Amino acid sequence: MMKDTLRDQGKRKLLVQELQEKKGIDNVNVLKAIGNVPRHLFFDKVFHDNFAYKDVAFPIGAGQTISQPFTVATQSALLKVTRGMKVLEVGTGSGYQTAVLIEMGAKVYSIERQRELFHSAKANLSKLNYRANLFFGDGYIGKEAFAPFDRIIVTCGAPFVPEELINQLAPNGIMVVPVGEGVNQTMVLIEKSENGEIIKTEHGSFSFVPMLNDKQY
Ligand code: SAH
Repeated sequence: MMKDTLRDQGKRKLLVQELQEKKGIDNVNVLKAIGNVPRHLFFDKVFHDNFAYKDVAFPIGAGQTISQPFTVATQSALLKVTRGMKVLEVGTGSGYQTAVLIEMGAKVYSIERQRELFHSAKANLSKLNYRANLFFGDGYIGKEAFAPFDRIIVTCGAPFVPEELINQLAPNGIMVVPVGEGVNQTMVLIEKSENGEIIKTEHGSFSFVPMLNDKQY
């Protein structure tokens, strides 16, 4: 049963309040999107009650995690998504970040390298009527067939910024990618100018599961 009860909605409201008042998230579109997506329905049922609306990351199977709401909010705000934009996401995971981007009006293309998660994200999103273009594959090579993208978001810790992703970013495009191989990554924002110049800025330290390239297809 996919239920969004008043109790769930109440907890979600408190999470949005926490992000806004205590964690400094001020992008109204992001707060609204997080307020609309039933995060608990991206969790295994037994964990709904205790974990879905805490500002923490949580295991989703296959050794991966659903990102912490603060992290989802920060990346979504840095992306400056507006309605109708084409967004490439690397690391579909649970599909939660995908849903937040769809709520913000994006047309989302998302790649996941673990078959099990690719299937569960697909099921989660379609049950909630979120339409996304989901792919099972390797995010390092992006999705050339649908490039260029107005925005690119990487939701796993990358050892370096994949060159192919920069190539698939449209002029005036923005990419957010957590870079670093240890426990912590630096949130890197990459802006591509009209004529293809690249500007990189750094936006704090976060903790992500690693972006891997050892998977065989
Ligand atoms: N956006 C997700 C976060 C999931 S964690 C959410 O909201 O739930 C990061 C995900 O990146 C994991 O599911 C992991 O399997 C995936 N991943 C790791 N390396 C990848 C790669 N090379 N290509 C695509 N996905 C990758």
